[in-house]
Amino acid sequence: MLTRLSLRRSLPLLLGIFGLLFTVMLTAWHLPTRIEENLAGWRNHTSQHLALLQSSLSDHRRLGRNAELETELADLASLEGVLWAMVIDRGLQVIATTQLGLSPERLTLIDAGELAKQVNGGRAGWFGEGSRQLAIYPLDRVAQDGTPLREALLVEYDFAPMLAQTKREAWFYLAQTLTLLLLLGLILNRLYGRLLTRRLARIDQAARQFAIDQQPQNLSVGGRDEIGRLARTINQMMNQLHERQLALSESEQLFRDLVDTAPIGMLVVDRELRVLQANPAAAALFGCTPAELLGNLPGDRLLESDATTRLLSTPANTPLELTGRRHDREVPLEISCTPFQRYGVRHFLVLLRDISDRLRAEQRLRFLAHFDPLTQLANRNYLVQRLEQLLAARLPLTLLYLDLDHFKRINDSLGHEIGDKLLVQIGDRLGRLMPEHALLSRSGGDEFMLLLDGSNHIRAEQLAQCIIEGFRPPVRIGQYECYVSPSIGVAISDGRHSASDLLKQVDLALYAAKDAGRNCTVFYNDALSDAAAGRRALEQALRRALDRDEFVLHYQAQVNAQGEPEVMEALLRWNSPERGLVPPGEFIPVLEDSGMIIEATRWVFREACRQACRWHAQGYSLRIAVNLSPLDFRQADLAGSLLAILEEEGASTSMLELEITESALLEADEHVQQTLTRLKAAGLPLLLDDFGTGYASLTYLQRFRFDGIKIDREFVSGLPDSEESVALVRGILTMASHLGLHVVAEGVENERQAAFLRLNGCPSLQGFYYARPQPAAQCRLQQNGGPINLQLPLDA
Ligand code: C2E
Ligand code: CA
Ligand code: CA
Repeated sequence: MLTRLSLRRSLPLLLGIFGLLFTVMLTAWHLPTRIEENLAGWRNHTSQHLALLQSSLSDHRRLGRNAELETELADLASLEGVLWAMVIDRGLQVIATTQLGLSPERLTLIDAGELAKQVNGGRAGWFGEGSRQLAIYPLDRVAQDGTPLREALLVEYDFAPMLAQTKREAWFYLAQTLTLLLLLGLILNRLYGRLLTRRLARIDQAARQFAIDQQPQNLSVGGRDEIGRLARTINQMMNQLHERQLALSESEQLFRDLVDTAPIGMLVVDRELRVLQANPAAAALFGCTPAELLGNLPGDRLLESDATTRLLSTPANTPLELTGRRHDREVPLEISCTPFQRYGVRHFLVLLRDISDRLRAEQRLRFLAHFDPLTQLANRNYLVQRLEQLLAARLPLTLLYLDLDHFKRINDSLGHEIGDKLLVQIGDRLGRLMPEHALLSRSGGDEFMLLLDGSNHIRAEQLAQCIIEGFRPPVRIGQYECYVSPSIGVAISDGRHSASDLLKQVDLALYAAKDAGRNCTVFYNDALSDAAAGRRALEQALRRALDRDEFVLHYQAQVNAQGEPEVMEALLRWNSPERGLVPPGEFIPVLEDSGMIIEATRWVFREACRQACRWHAQGYSLRIAVNLSPLDFRQADLAGSLLAILEEEGASTSMLELEITESALLEADEHVQQTLTRLKAAGLPLLLDDFGTGYASLTYLQRFRFDGIKIDREFVSGLPDSEESVALVRGILTMASHLGLHVVAEGVENERQAAFLRLNGCPSLQGFYYARPQPAAQCRLQQNGGPINLQLPLDA
């Protein structure tokens, strides 16, 4: 009950109750004892007084001094509290008294019998109750015979005034005690207030204030006692709580900021998927405000009717792809639900992501994985997949591999933009030419593939022919008319091949078609494979040949009008231990394909330098012509490497000249131009080889500033009977003399050809008629007007 009151009230109350109880107890116990004690004291005192009086009274009686006796009694009766006094004998006869008319038999405090017994017994005693007391005291008077006379003194007292005094004193004493207690209580209360209540109240006040505003209070309660310690602990707790509160609110704020600024939609939903919280990103996904989402089901804004059930049944963190509604638009969404506990209740965090971009990118990737973005045709991957499917099902099929001839030339001369447009148009054209259900793909660059059902050779041949025919009309792109022709390789399978084998076969067939002069079709056969295998073996052997130094140079003379050799053309031979002397036509293409040609050219050039030096040392002022392959121009610094060799071998540029075929210039770019300019500037004469077989020859002659040309064998062989050859050779010679170019006619095999050429002013002739290519040691040379002793043609 007391704990319900504040200490400020309960303590004074307790003290008050305690004081009251103390007083009551004191009153109940102290007062009667005190009265009893006082009575006993007075009796004692009176007894002593009476004992003194007794002897004097006894003397008065023995001597018969009655007057003195009465006086003494009167003195006694006059004392405070004494009502009366009398002396009686054993017969209860009054001898003297202060109260006339009072007989001993009529006493109230003792009856007569008892009195007689007392007197006769000679005993002293007190009788009576309360304040009225009767004292009986025997007088010791003896008769002459020695027997006691038995007389007694009776005195009645009234102690009431004394008792009243005692009570007054007791009450006074109590009042004093009470006052003291009160004072003590007050002091205690104050002290207690200072030590306990006020400090506790301050702690309480601070704690309450903290509970209201969460601001830690400055609790100024000192001391080292329990309350001081309590105050410090509470202070510490408040500070810690406040700090934690701050940290919590900071992290809450951070969390709220994160959620609000998160680029991903977030919803907090209850067990029924009702939205309790939504961030702006989530609202933006549905084109509304976060408040508009509250209370809704995510399913309300999703297109799928079973969205809610699916969300509830999908395992946690497993993304679901669903479609959201934003105004009239559909938004593909990725949604995942993560359960969590909040105040012991299960909730879900729903994450929503707009995956339009991702889907578009995926679509694009899927497209790119299977289609060519330029022509919109299937790509090689897709075709190969389809091929694998058909072959897995053992279905017969036909594969056409198509490559555009010299497409690079168009690309380089007209630019890539036109090149791309051309590819698109060719794709369209092929689409129109191919049969239904065939799969057409662009497999990269200027290559296309056609996949057909069935393994009908004739049908494939007809289709290939139809494509070649279909390519004859030029393709119009803007102001340009482009002529393009395809080379086609075909492989046919009964369904028992692997895709990679078939791709290899069709590749070989295409390669063969290109080898066969382009713009034609070649069907795969085993001979192609064998040839390819032979080619690989040859490549290996050539690699070894380069290492083992198996190459040799033969020299063929170019003679002047007088038949004297001026220039010796270095022609490469392979002196193979297994194959014998191999002509360059058989291995140069392999060197070119494998890139070994660069090393071979360097070897030839070095060897030519050395031979030129030897001949010069022997007194022959012969130049050696070295053939360059178009592939030589692929190396970074052809000019630098040739000039370095020249210097290393101590040869001069006047001892050598370079023959370059037109095909090297077909794909001429800035780099080729620079190389030729540098070589020419160094003093090396440049001759255009196989003149007349290539394209746009005149352009090249001017652009690269050649020193001369070599008329191709093809034209010389027709001389002098073929009108065409005659016209052409004459034309070339006239043009060359106008341009100031040196001319060499190659492949001169007989007297008539030589005579025609000489007659038409061809300054230099080369051919079996004059000399076959020979090792340097076997070349018998004669110069300076003497008869030249060149080996005669075998058939001459
Ligand atoms: P080319 O540069 O046109 O060389 C002339 C070829 O014609 C030589 O064949 C030569 O033996 C042959 N020839 C010469 N006079 C006659 C003739 O009166 N009648 C006939 N029918 N043929 C004649 P070869 O040595 O087999 O060389 C063939 C081709 O190999 C050369 O044609 C050249 O393009 C290439 N070649 C040869 N040596 C080298 C070389 O060191 N480097 C490079 N890159 N190519 C070389
Ligand atoms: Ca040549
Ligand atoms: Ca030639």
